Parts: sequence; C-alpha cells; structure tokens
Amino acid sequence: EQLRREFSANVSHELKTPLTSISGYAELIENGMASGDDTVRFAKEIHKSANRLLTLINDIIRLSQLDSTPETTFEKVDLYEVAQVTVDMLAMSAQQHRVSLQLEGRKCYVYGNKQMLEDLIYNLCDNAIRYNVENGLVCVTVGEVDDNVFLAVRDTGIGISKENQERVFERFYRVDKSRSKQTGGTGLGLAIARNAILLHRGSIKIDSEEGQGTVFTVKIPIIYVSK
Ligand code: ADP
Repeated sequence: EQLRREFSANVSHELKTPLTSISGYAELIENGMASGDDTVRFAKEIHKSANRLLTLINDIIRLSQLDSTPETTFEKVDLYEVAQVTVDMLAMSAQQHRVSLQLEGRKCYVYGNKQMLEDLIYNLCDNAIRYNVENGLVCVTVGEVDDNVFLAVRDTGIGISKENQERVFERFYRVDKSRSKQTGGTGLGLAIARNAILLHRGSIKIDSEEGQGTVFTVKIPIIYVSK
C-alpha cells in the first residue's frame, strides 16, 4: 500500500513539471507576450514537454498493465530474432550517440510474449547507448546456459556504483536525474524490464564498475525445439 501511495505521488510530481511548463508558455503566447521568434521558441518548449508527457504516460500505462497480471499471449519466441529487430530499431540512435552497437549469438527459443521481450531488450539497449561514452561499445549476446536462454547487454559506459545497483529497478529511481531527463528517460525503464522478466519466470542481474561499463544479464527458461 505504501509503495502504491509513493508511486502515485511520484507520478503526479513527474507529470506536473512538463504540464506546468506547457501551461506557462501557452499563457505567455495567449497574453500576446511573445514576439515572432519567441512564439517559435515557446512552441518548441511546449512540443518538447508534450512529448515528455506522452513518453511518461506510455511507460506508466505499460507498467500498470504488467502489474495487473495481464492476459498476454505467450508463444514460442526466438529471442535472437527479437534482439535483431530491436538492435536494427536502435541503429540510428547508436550512431547519433557515436556508439557502436553489435549483436552476437544464435537462435534460442523461449516461451514468451514477443512485444514484452522486445520492450525489455529495447530498454536495456537504449540505456546502454544513453549511459555510454563517445566512441563506446554496446554488445548484445544471446545464447544458452544450462536450461536457460541468456541475453547479455554489455556496455563500455559510465557504470553504476554498488549502492545504486540495488536501486535502479525502483520506479522513478535515477542515478543522475538530469542526464536521464536530457536523454528522454523516465526512470521507469528498468522497473518495466524487471516486471516483464518476472512474468517470463526469468531473472536479471547487474555486473558493473563505475567508469568502466555495465553488463545486464537476463535469463529465461529455454524451450528445446526438435530440429
Ligand atoms: P531512465 O529512463 O532514467 O533511463 P531506467 O529505469 O531505465 O530509467 O534506469 C534507471 C537508472 O539506472 C537510470 O536513470 C541510470 O541512472 C541507471 N542506468 C540504467 N542503465 C544503465 C547503464 N547501462 N549504465 C549506467 N547507468 C544505467
């Protein structure tokens, strides 16, 4: 109950900031206090805050869907194929951040929900790109270990300190709030990732060294497919 209350308070707070900005800039335009150039600048700010609200609301909806034991269709999914699609989606963003993004591995099947797995890999790779350094590397590997399929996302970025490693899965927890916001973060990505993994009866762990980089490793039970 306390977590729920904290979450509602945080949601209200997070939504309030961009809305206050939208309302403020719109009021200036309404009162005729913006000249031609200002109008364009204010419209840009309104646009930016509106996009931020949309991103936040999308993440909040996704999280609450995962909370309420959704009626999701599970099927045989090749995690390597999902990783390939996701890596392709992020190729442009990696280029913009001057980070090289690679995928290694081979076909590995799990019983899962494709969309949820795509969101999961997307969040991990997006973070690995956003919290990286110039000319950094992100390497995604899909393989088998024991009775599990593993997906490792390794980056050569800023790393996460030991204390923070335990907290980054909390809703709205961000190590560096301004960097997160500047790069379009909501502080919900890893909370969504963890919920999705739990629904797949999997696990996630972090290995990280500050200033060196981070590896997120996800394990999900394998389905053996007859050839
Ligand atoms: P955000 O939207 O802020 O990225 P997440 O829930 O995805 O939120 O991650 C929570 C926090 O964990 C981030 O704000 C960042 O401080 C830290 N973090 C996540 N992934 C990485 C990474 N690969 N390297 C360094 N820090 C990370």
